[in-house]
Amino acid sequence: MTRVGLYGGTFDPIHHGHLISARSLAETLDLERVYLIPAARPPHKPDRAMTSIEDRLEMVRLAVEGDTLFEVCEIEARRDGPSYTYDTVERMRAIFGGSTELFWFIGGDSLPELHSWHRVRELVQCVTIVTATRPGWLPPTLETLATAVGESAAQELLSNCVGTPSIGISATEIRNRRSIGLSIWYLTPRDVVQYIERNDLYASADSAKRP
Ligand code: ATP
Repeated sequence: MTRVGLYGGTFDPIHHGHLISARSLAETLDLERVYLIPAARPPHKPDRAMTSIEDRLEMVRLAVEGDTLFEVCEIEARRDGPSYTYDTVERMRAIFGGSTELFWFIGGDSLPELHSWHRVRELVQCVTIVTATRPGWLPPTLETLATAVGESAAQELLSNCVGTPSIGISATEIRNRRSIGLSIWYLTPRDVVQYIERNDLYASADSAKRP
């Protein structure tokens, strides 16, 4: 059975925290391929100003160019409406068929929010959700999850937590540094740094107000 990882995110921009954590999960889970899936309209960030999906896609492409583990997936970029994970997983299931096992990556910060995801009860039935955790991370209680997805699915979610290296980089930090004129070298791959600089991304007064 082929094992494939799906990693959704805003990726505004993608950075080494995403890449190192995804590679580490892929090794731990023995995955053949990981699809990076930039969300056109993340349902949990409805009011946030975002860089265009074309720029975010391009930065993801540049970040992983030459690495055969990763593939960039445009499925959420090309779909209208909120970028619900459930819709993406359902589509990927149809594309890959029954001989592929799908794993959806989330960060430790997302697991306590999972109960609020669109059609979460069905989502946990059609994909294995794997939570990337960092040292010091505290899991949500079984009760919180069980209310949303049922007890056995909640137990499975808690047992599918995988330790990953702690890389203290966030997209917010990159945007904030750009907005006050600080260097972003080494926070994200070189080609992404150069793309951001060439296209003057995150440098406006507007981006300084982003959370
Ligand atoms: P922002 O700072 O804009 O909120 P972000 O850096 O958290 O962005 P997202 O695109 O929102 O990036 O995150 C996609 C996924 O990557 C989330 O599940 C998040 O938990 C995870 N993630 C973000 N930064 C890191 C990091 N440094 N190490 C491991 N995982 C990360």
